[in-house]
Amino acid sequence: MAKIIRSQRASTSSVRSAPKKKAAKAATPQPKRAAKKVATKAAKKVVKPKPWTAEEVYEAFDRFRKANPEPKGELEHLNPYTLLVAVVLSAQATDAGVNKATRALFAIADTPEKMLELGEDKVRDYIKTIGLYRNKARNVIALSEKLIAEFGGEVPRTRAEIESLPGAGRKTANVVLNMAFGERTMAVDTHVFRVGNRTGLAPGKTPLEVELGLEKVIPTEFMLHAHHWLILHGRYTCLARGPRCDVCLINDLCRWPEKTV
Ligand code: SF4
Repeated sequence: MAKIIRSQRASTSSVRSAPKKKAAKAATPQPKRAAKKVATKAAKKVVKPKPWTAEEVYEAFDRFRKANPEPKGELEHLNPYTLLVAVVLSAQATDAGVNKATRALFAIADTPEKMLELGEDKVRDYIKTIGLYRNKARNVIALSEKLIAEFGGEVPRTRAEIESLPGAGRKTANVVLNMAFGERTMAVDTHVFRVGNRTGLAPGKTPLEVELGLEKVIPTEFMLHAHHWLILHGRYTCLARGPRCDVCLINDLCRWPEKTV
């Protein structure tokens, strides 16, 4: 509303005093306008943090490793199939919320065949505490059908094949490849995205940019567990609101200008 009023005033006055203003414009520079232009330019300029050196990255992951040599994911599962289903259900939901629903579901349906036998309506009942449960129940049935029809009832081992399953995207494929098949993939969820950006380790506007950035800087020897170290770091230390910088293992290396240490 304020904008509209301002522009209305400006246009009224420009009509009334047009000749005067034109002369003034020609005779004098426009300091205010110039300053505004500079300020806008500065605001638009993205301040990039100083990139981490290879030694700093090694040091950070060495500290993570010493503190937690065998980090584990928190999504409960019994086999690659239930892991796949759990990850599909975890989109826009917490691991704790998914676990609460899947404990009972996986106790009676831990294979695609058993899931199909259970049927979409019953799957929906089991997972109705999870957001978007209708859509997710449909996907769980559809992906189970596809696994049986095209992959002999097994979870496939390539990214393209996993991504071809209903409800599964790049993050799902990365989690399954890493946790079920021991591949050095980097799944970027909301925590990893935040940590990658805040710390300056791998700034990026999209999860894919952060994923590729992290893969580029993290030494291979850490890649198997890097995804879990970063998730756990984001979930318990580098919190979205009120990061616990005082107890953070990498607070001396972190580039975030707003860190509290
Ligand atoms: S210092 Fe603070 S902002 Fe930086 S990684 Fe640690 S918790 Fe996050």
